[in-house]
Amino acid sequence: EKLIKEETERRVLFNKYQELKGNIRVMCRVRPVLGNAEGNPAQIGFPDEKTSAQIDVTQEEKNSMGVVSRKVVPFEFDRVFTPAVHNEEIFGEISQLVQSALDGYNVCIFCYGQTGSGKTYTMSSPDGMIPRATHMIYETITKLKEKSWTYTMEGSFVEVYNEELHDLLTPGRESDGKRRLEIRHDDSRKQTSVLNCKTVALDSPDKVEMMLKQAQNNRSVAATKANERSSRSHSVFILRLVGYNSATNERCEGTLNLVDLAGSERLKHSQAEGERMRETQNINKSLACLGDVIEALGRGSGHIPYRNSKLTHLLQYSLGGNSKTLMFVMVSPLEAHLKETITSLRFATKVHNTHIGTAKSTK
Ligand code: ADP
Repeated sequence: EKLIKEETERRVLFNKYQELKGNIRVMCRVRPVLGNAEGNPAQIGFPDEKTSAQIDVTQEEKNSMGVVSRKVVPFEFDRVFTPAVHNEEIFGEISQLVQSALDGYNVCIFCYGQTGSGKTYTMSSPDGMIPRATHMIYETITKLKEKSWTYTMEGSFVEVYNEELHDLLTPGRESDGKRRLEIRHDDSRKQTSVLNCKTVALDSPDKVEMMLKQAQNNRSVAATKANERSSRSHSVFILRLVGYNSATNERCEGTLNLVDLAGSERLKHSQAEGERMRETQNINKSLACLGDVIEALGRGSGHIPYRNSKLTHLLQYSLGGNSKTLMFVMVSPLEAHLKETITSLRFATKVHNTHIGTAKSTK
């Protein structure tokens, strides 16, 4: 009883804190160097251990005389994680946000960054955010039973590839007769459903593991080279939570979207041909569109360009309005990746400087 009370108080406080700060957060994670063979590390500094909110990147510049000078470029986010930080600690930082999906919020967590920066490791490895989030939700649902709340938890897993939506839980390809997915919005309830998409009742922890494996298999089957495909598509794990309190007759509905974005590296159009070119254009377009949507929400614009990309269309009711957003910007520690690192950190800074209203629980 005491634990439940403390837990409830913590969540109330957290939601108050969110309201004060607006409902968009940006955190940065730098992955470790994986071995000598990876190449030279870049000079990345973490100047403020106390708040852990800053990251400095040192850039070298040559002037016309060939003299090399060094420039330190500082960035600031809500939180910065050094390479020594494990998935467990990262999850500890975001667990309140995951819990708020149980309080009836729509929550979106993105991993943004170039290929190889640690997005998949953070999101869907066996100790990553998807298994940890579902596990924690089970535990909380069990505790909430004592307060007369019963919850159903359903998961689906989709991929946006070349501006087309694919179901990762149904094997096969659309060209072989698999039904096409369609996004349907219920504007009055501010909810989104995906027609023809398989949904799995996640009523036990091992179902999550099965689901992740299935998604991984279906992704590999659809691609000639699995890694290439997964770095060039966005994957979205959608967890729908519906709660009912038999004592008070209250209902609440929340969604947790965990999004592993396509690699943000900017392939030059001149280097890409044919299918590659189309993929590149679609990735560039959809990531830019995500930035535009967040910016428009921040400006309080009357028109939010959700429909300009499949991903933002799918996430319409989880971006802005009654929602909370967290973006992880993932950083490679290597010198060879410095240019992309700075581009990623700039994109993330824009998102960080955006203040999007406050979210209200449906509870
Ligand atoms: P991305 O999804 O951004 O392309 P990955 O998640 O596949 O990148 O990470 C690239 C490589 O780095 C993988 O081999 C992964 O296991 C490893 N890696 C990423 N982050 C970490 C980390 N924090 N600790 C240890 N290894 C990591």
